[in-house]
Amino acid sequence: MQDSQLLQIAQDFGSPVYVYDAERIATQYNRLTAAFKDVNQLKVNYAVKALSNISVLKLMKQLGAGLDTVSIQEVQLGLAAGFNAESIIFTPNGVSLEEIETVAKLGCQINIDNLSILEQFGTKHPKTPVCIRINPHVMAGGNTNISVGHIDSKFGISIHQIPHILRIVENTKMNINGIHMHTGSDILDIDVFLYASEILFETAKHFKNLEFIDFGSGFKVPYKAGDIETNIEELGEKLSTRFNQFCKEYGKPLTLAFEPGKFLVSEAGQFLVNVNVVKQTTSTVFAQVDSGFNHLIRPMLYGSQHDIRNLSNPEGRERFYSVVGYICETDTFANNRRISEINEGDILAFSNAGAYCYSMASNYNSRYRPAEVLVYNGEAHLIRQRETFEDILKNQVEIDFKPKKVKSTTKQNITL
Ligand SMILES: *Cc1c(COP(=O)(O)O)cnc(C)c1O
Repeated sequence: MQDSQLLQIAQDFGSPVYVYDAERIATQYNRLTAAFKDVNQLKVNYAVKALSNISVLKLMKQLGAGLDTVSIQEVQLGLAAGFNAESIIFTPNGVSLEEIETVAKLGCQINIDNLSILEQFGTKHPKTPVCIRINPHVMAGGNTNISVGHIDSKFGISIHQIPHILRIVENTKMNINGIHMHTGSDILDIDVFLYASEILFETAKHFKNLEFIDFGSGFKVPYKAGDIETNIEELGEKLSTRFNQFCKEYGKPLTLAFEPGKFLVSEAGQFLVNVNVVKQTTSTVFAQVDSGFNHLIRPMLYGSQHDIRNLSNPEGRERFYSVVGYICETDTFANNRRISEINEGDILAFSNAGAYCYSMASNYNSRYRPAEVLVYNGEAHLIRQRETFEDILKNQVEIDFKPKKVKSTTKQNITL
């Protein structure tokens, strides 16, 4: 996607608008599958929560992906997009037994991450194949918001509880067909990943009827200059070799599964906003845009740094700006950012706006959620309309407040 095309999209569809590049998504998908071409069978389940637009899901289906889902609504979205239930894995956390049973009945692969549900589900449905989510207690990254494999994490069943898992499996005679881990969204180096994988292999040996081992995700993509990117090619080479070797030891060819979100869609997304006001203060120059953390919360929630370009004045002299939003809350997108000179009415583009951006958007300040556009074969397709005032009022129930009726105490009202 050229910046000139992005500018045209902002003109045609208005701002703020999320724009996704289908080609970029395909490139990432193909990179991942190419890196693991040597394994017996690879399954890439796209993590729906990263970007859940139905057209994006359909694109994933066309590429050959399955889906990783965390709620029954994501499962329903996947089914609506045309996925078979068998190509959907359900990896929820802390959801009710009923929700898991409903999804299992639909035919999706169930992934259970706590002993209580494992025991209840296994007792009631011993024949339904179940995958178990293990917490290998590997600290990937260092930010406890996004490192879910460590000891205090709420995710997965601790590897120290394997004896307990085995007792439940034996008592219920349930069918464990997969082992899973997802160590968080910030695996910094391949060695950490391989280390966690060894724990998963050790665990896998306890189960005789496995069909797949799911290594989750956590692939890192660069957000700003100097950021580390997971070297997928190197990981592919090393993990494939080790995986094939494990399958030999195990005595059966297994499927290697991943469930990337960010890796597939982050860099494919751009968020376009309009500059409403340029405001000089005693200490800085604010560029105030027609958005806020209601549309893009990552910078405030995680401290994420999204690169920002001025599409309207790419050759302008670079100056320092604080880019902030228009909602009544501190909503700083960027501090002291060097951007080519900004004028009111300019269109700015935020990079890496594919993953966890639109899907985390809200109506805070009663603002509309933005439109979404997918560029496919060079053409811009609207894949979600901007909300309207009807959307804001939808589901709200108005009460008719009438003046309180005063009860009469006089006897005149009583008819005998
Ligand atoms: C969120 C999530 C993913 C995707 O993580 P990314 O960092 O976006 O690749 C994968 N698996 C599970 C279980 C998740 O919750």
